[in-house]
Amino acid sequence: MTDTQQQIVLASRPSSAPVDANFRLETVALSAVGQGEVLVRVQYLSLDPYMRGRMNDTKSYADPVPIGGVMEGMGVGEVIASNDPGFQPGDFAMGGFGWADHGCLPAKKLRKIDPALAPVQTSLGIIGLPGFTGWYGLTALGKPKAGETLVIGSATGAVGTLVGQWARLLGLRVVGVAGGAEKCAYAVEKLGFDACIDYRGKTAEALATELKVACPDGIDIYWENTGGPLTEAVIEQMNGFGRMILCGMIAWYNEKPKPDAENLLPKFWRNILVNRLSVQGFIISDHWDQLQSFVAEVAPRIAAGDITYRESITEGLETMPTAFMGMLEGKNFGKTLVKL
Ligand code: NDP
Repeated sequence: MTDTQQQIVLASRPSSAPVDANFRLETVALSAVGQGEVLVRVQYLSLDPYMRGRMNDTKSYADPVPIGGVMEGMGVGEVIASNDPGFQPGDFAMGGFGWADHGCLPAKKLRKIDPALAPVQTSLGIIGLPGFTGWYGLTALGKPKAGETLVIGSATGAVGTLVGQWARLLGLRVVGVAGGAEKCAYAVEKLGFDACIDYRGKTAEALATELKVACPDGIDIYWENTGGPLTEAVIEQMNGFGRMILCGMIAWYNEKPKPDAENLLPKFWRNILVNRLSVQGFIISDHWDQLQSFVAEVAPRIAAGDITYRESITEGLETMPTAFMGMLEGKNFGKTLVKL
C-alpha cells in the first residue's frame, strides 16, 4: 500500500474562466486512519459545475475552497483500510474526498455502494447527486402534470438527462435546449425528448421564435440550468400558474451578469406577477433525507432501460482541471467523470 496521495489544490482564484495556473498537483503523506475512519482508494471523481462557485471568495450557500486547499468534490472507490465496523476492505464507498486519489473520512460521512446494482460511477451521476437533483426538483417543486410542457437547458448534461426523461415518463412534452446538432439529435433520438433546440450563437429573440414552434401550448415548467439568452426567451412564453425551478445558471458562472441584464428585471417581475408564476430556487444538499426514495424509485427504471445516460470520462487525476474547464464550455457529453 502506498504511503502518499496525490491531490489538486486551488493555487489562485480565477477572475473569469479558470485556467491551468489556478490549480496545482501535490503529493502529500497519506492520513493515518483514525478511530471510526475509513481509507478509500478513489476510482472515479465527479466534476460538477458547482465547483466553479467554490473557487470564488463570495457569500454563498457553502464556504469557498481556501487558497492552497484541496478542491472540493465527490468520488467513489474501494475501501483499503477501515477502523469502523460498517466498512471492510474491498467494500465500495462514495464520499467527499476532494480532487484526490485517496480519501480518509469518518464512516458516517460515507455512503456504501453496491457494485452489483450498477457500475459504481453511476453513484456520482444518474443515481447520484445530479440525478437526485433532477428527480427531487421536478417531482417536489415542478408539480408536473401529464400533458404539460417542460423546457430545459443543458438538456443532455447530467441533470438535464434525468429531468427530461423523468418528465417524459410522467407524460409531459419535453423540449430540450443544448449546444450543437449532435447533442440535440441525442436528446430526441436517445433520450426521447419531443424536440431539442441548438442555442449556440442565437439571441434571445431567435430562441423565442424557435421555442414558439416547439411549445405551441406555451411553457408550464421551465427548468433553469443555464441562465443566458434562454431565460429571457422563456419568460414571455410561460403559461399561467407556471413553475420556474432555479437549479443553476452556468452561463453566468464565469462572469458577472452584463449591466443591460438589469433592464430585464421589469419584464421578469411583470411576467411573474401577471402569470402568477412560482419561482423556486433549491440546493439539493438540503434534501439528502430523500435520497433513498430517489434511488428506490429511479434505479429500477434505469435497470429496466426506461432511463438511459451517458458519461464523459477522462483518465488520470492530472486531467481534472482540463476536464473541468471543458465542462464549463460544453465539451462534456453527459456526466463528467475522471477515472483514476
Ligand atoms: P452538465 O453535465 O449539464 O454540464 C454543464 C453543461 O453546461 C455543458 O455541457 C454545457 O452544455 C452547458 N453550458 C455551458 N456553458 C453554457 C452557456 N453559456 N449557456 C448554456 N449552457 C451552457 O452539468 P450538470 O448537469 O451537473 O449541472 C447542470 C446545472 O445544474 C448547472 O447549472 C449546475 O450548477 C446545476 N446544479 C444545481 C444543483 C442544485 O442543488 N441546485 C445540483 C447539481 C447541479 P451545452 O453543450 O449543451 O451548452
